[in-house]
Amino acid sequence: MITKNTRYGQGVEQYQARLIAVRERVNAASVAAGRDPSEVSILVATKTQSVETIRTVFALPEASGMLRGENRVQELVAKGPDLVDLQARTELIGPLQSNKINAALRWVNGVSSVASRELAQAMAKRLDPARVLPVMVQVNVSGEETKSGVAPAEAMAVASYCAELPNLAFRGFMTIGAHSDDEAVVRRGYAKLASLRDRAESLGIGEALHLSMGMSNDLEWAIAEGATIVRVGTAVFGPRDAVR
Ligand SMILES: *Cc1c(COP(=O)(O)O)cnc(C)c1O
Repeated sequence: MITKNTRYGQGVEQYQARLIAVRERVNAASVAAGRDPSEVSILVATKTQSVETIRTVFALPEASGMLRGENRVQELVAKGPDLVDLQARTELIGPLQSNKINAALRWVNGVSSVASRELAQAMAKRLDPARVLPVMVQVNVSGEETKSGVAPAEAMAVASYCAELPNLAFRGFMTIGAHSDDEAVVRRGYAKLASLRDRAESLGIGEALHLSMGMSNDLEWAIAEGATIVRVGTAVFGPRDAVR
């Protein structure tokens, strides 16, 4: 699979510069929020990117410690065999249909996008009994109809359900922020996710809980509200083809 993306003049130096810029944004936002920058991990969303591009980016020392995320199962599975030796944890960050569970779980270290008890149960049933899969519950904090995720009012119940399944390890909450330029609106959603995490912690549901929130255009707002994982695509790869 060689789909060189030359349209935007992408080269190794450009990826390197963008990774450095993202890391600097994360560091600055963490410091501004009175947080330790090492609390915030960077997940690189590699949708539409070729195996070659993904390898190029993750071979860079600047990408060390970063995670990789795929939101489309079809792409995750197609690229899986060519990326088995990638030195990065891979997360599914998009919807999973029950008939694709076996295929998908083969290529991930964790699932950030559990959006129902049924999916949690179906994954637990299909997992190798020796395997414990870290999962996060995806919450639709904005209530926008186009967004997947459980309603905030149901999030705790789904989280504790995941935590009780023997081969799932509940590790926190994920959301896609409100589609808005209004800082107050977007941050209110992130604050809601943070309050769910706080409640889960106080109830002893799961451990080492993460907050996966914030993308290329709003990661500062998410970090101000407590994000421990920010997910960036365009900040690293440049604009995606509109058709995909
Ligand atoms: C693509 C994607 C991202 C990254 O989005 P950018 O705006 O390109 O940074 C983050 N999260 C999910 C679930 C995605 O699908």
